[in-house]
Amino acid sequence: MVDHRLSEEHEALRDSVQTFARKEVAPVIGDYYEREEFPYPLVRTMGEMGLFGLPVPEEHGGMGGDYFALCLALEELARVDSSVAITLEAGVSLGVMPIYRFGNDEQRATWLPKLARGEILGAFGLTEPGGGSDAGSTRTTAVLDGDQWVINGSKAFITNSGTDLTGLVTVTAVTGQKPNGGKEISTIIVPSGTPGFEVAKKYSKVGWNASDTHALSFDDCRVPAGNLLGERGRGYAQFLATLTEGRVAIAAVGVGLAQGCVDECLRYLDEREAFGRKIGEYQAMQFKVADMELRAHTARLAYYDAASRMLRGEPYKKQAAIAKLASSNAAMDNARDATQIFGGYGFMNETPVGRFYRDAKILEIGEGTSEVQRMLIARELGLPA
Ligand SMILES: Cc1cc2nc3c(=O)[nH]c(=O)nc-3n(C[C@H](O)[C@H](O)[C@H](O)COP(=O)(O)OP(=O)(O)OC[C@H]3O[C@@H](n4cnc5c(N)ncnc54)[C@H](O)[C@@H]3O)c2cc1C
Repeated sequence: MVDHRLSEEHEALRDSVQTFARKEVAPVIGDYYEREEFPYPLVRTMGEMGLFGLPVPEEHGGMGGDYFALCLALEELARVDSSVAITLEAGVSLGVMPIYRFGNDEQRATWLPKLARGEILGAFGLTEPGGGSDAGSTRTTAVLDGDQWVINGSKAFITNSGTDLTGLVTVTAVTGQKPNGGKEISTIIVPSGTPGFEVAKKYSKVGWNASDTHALSFDDCRVPAGNLLGERGRGYAQFLATLTEGRVAIAAVGVGLAQGCVDECLRYLDEREAFGRKIGEYQAMQFKVADMELRAHTARLAYYDAASRMLRGEPYKKQAAIAKLASSNAAMDNARDATQIFGGYGFMNETPVGRFYRDAKILEIGEGTSEVQRMLIARELGLPA
């Protein structure tokens, strides 16, 4: 049976996040963005609303919802602003989920309730200065010295890693050599403030300017042996699983941005006049917005499909990559067309579409570039790696 109607719970969640985004985020986010400032009051409210614990069971302090609920919340946030959306997306898919999925009882008890309530933020340090797409080329090392891991190396572009709320970063590191000579990669939890763990000054970015992104360095950074997440040597499999799941969430962010462009343009087409008529009366403008709605709608169906397969426990790697690719294409194309519809005002940072334009590009890069998504789809079609 094909049924894309939302359940009552999902509908109610979407409505409450939509109200929050429109009433509390929209009026203030432009100023945070211009100041390149992390919007602490908004993130705290998102924590109080339970958004960081949406797919986490209640016994761990979460809302007991599912991953699709997270996607719906992300779509509604990104419809208004992508910086707050990515703060939630990375906070949950990269911060909370690895601990929930791979952590032992003690790690879950220590970290999940605070993460799920948004009292602290978690980050995921996979990408290194030497390469992100080839994520298995990790150079950071962790050596077991008695009952401690000693970590050395660096990470690049890590979201949520340097806020006042950041409580931990899970990092991938080479912990040895596999019998076949390859790198043994493991994941280790590094609490913020651990000596030897330095958070560099935040990057100056093209977009997502009210979100937090830093380079990290580890210089003889010592954490307890018990901070190993899951089994030793399972790091590669863990981050592949984390990224596959995360692709569905980031696809929801792209769909939100694409739909936000439609929202803004519908308003403007009915307001702006040229040559004595509303610009919405010109077919050239109507066709643009029709194409924008087409892209947002089809990309939404792609992420709904990936999410429903995920929730049914079916393979969904190909669908997740398709959703991520379709939504980032939709976001880029819609941001370009929305800016065109707004004319000169579209090039001004004061309009949301100016922000959407700057925020769209990263969706083709973060959490797997568009080339990487195409590689994944080709592999799932049986083509050689
Ligand atoms: C704002 C921001 C936030 C981020 N947040 C995080 C985070 O929280 N955690 C984290 O770990 N990372 C994070 N990243 C990193 C992000 O995931 C990487 O930037 C991304 O995976 C690409 O890696 P790269 O930048 O090293 O590019 P590269 O891997 O160097 O790629 C450069 C180009 O080469 C292409 N390419 C590479 N290999 C192939 C191939 N085999 N075939 C064809 N083309 C190829 C790529 O598609 C790309 O176009 C973030 C990045 C940004 C900008």
